[in-house]
Amino acid sequence: MESPDRIIQGMALDGHFRVIAAQTTTAVETAREILDLAPVAAEALGRAMTGALLLARVLDKDLRKQYVTLRFEGNGPLGTVIADGTVAGNVRGFVANPAPQDPHLDVESAIGNGSLTVVRGTPPAGKPYTSQILLAGTGIATDLTRYLMRSEQIASAVLLGVLNRRDGVAAAGGMIIQAFPNTPEEAIHAIEKRVREAPSLSKLLETMPIEEAVATVLEGTGYKQIDAGHSVPVSYACQCTRERALAPLALLGEDELQEMIDEGGTEVVCQFCGRKYQFGEDELFTLTAKHDS
Ligand SMILES: [Zn+2]
Repeated sequence: MESPDRIIQGMALDGHFRVIAAQTTTAVETAREILDLAPVAAEALGRAMTGALLLARVLDKDLRKQYVTLRFEGNGPLGTVIADGTVAGNVRGFVANPAPQDPHLDVESAIGNGSLTVVRGTPPAGKPYTSQILLAGTGIATDLTRYLMRSEQIASAVLLGVLNRRDGVAAAGGMIIQAFPNTPEEAIHAIEKRVREAPSLSKLLETMPIEEAVATVLEGTGYKQIDAGHSVPVSYACQCTRERALAPLALLGEDELQEMIDEGGTEVVCQFCGRKYQFGEDELFTLTAKHDS
């Protein structure tokens, strides 16, 4: 029996920790199908997508439309990995090379060394806030922990997991346990100890809903879910538009545009959702006219 993907919130150790958790199984399986992801690519992107959704909520400053984009640029076989998550629970992703040759790669070596850029903003107005860290090669969850500490001064533990089975993604999800500036050291040690000893979140999610999985991971810490009625549904969703699909073509040189016009038009495929946009001679001609002005 499958329960729908969602984000939940809770508190642990007498309110010393805020807990945000997400079940993203269906969203990650949808990404796997649309983007034709090999297991290691589904695992990397699934963790990144879950991380983007969780960060959007952790960093939420009452901005209903806030989004977070994670862009991993490593030298591993996956190439660039991008995940976009919004406070409203929409998530989408992209992997430059979704099917690396080596089937035994782990996520860390599949991404490789490089950088992680975190962008957060509120469309359409306002300049997005961007920061970058070097990938430590220890996994997406620890990269996000470092980002939260360095750029947002938030002490946290981040857990992310994707469980692949023969026929696709069996479970995916994650949680961020956030400490506050006045959280005592002993409480932090107690949570760290429990997280180290706890069973894997994605394995739990294969057999139980997110509410139970989080309660199991945080057993003995006085974890309580809050606002069950305010759980946020999660879905794989792309906000691409015809206008945005056309925009990159405006950056092409006149020769390239002329070639497309000679061919009677061109097709742009959204890299996140696979939607196809056809542009005819007239629209392309308008772009060449802009070059002249
Ligand atoms: Zn799209």
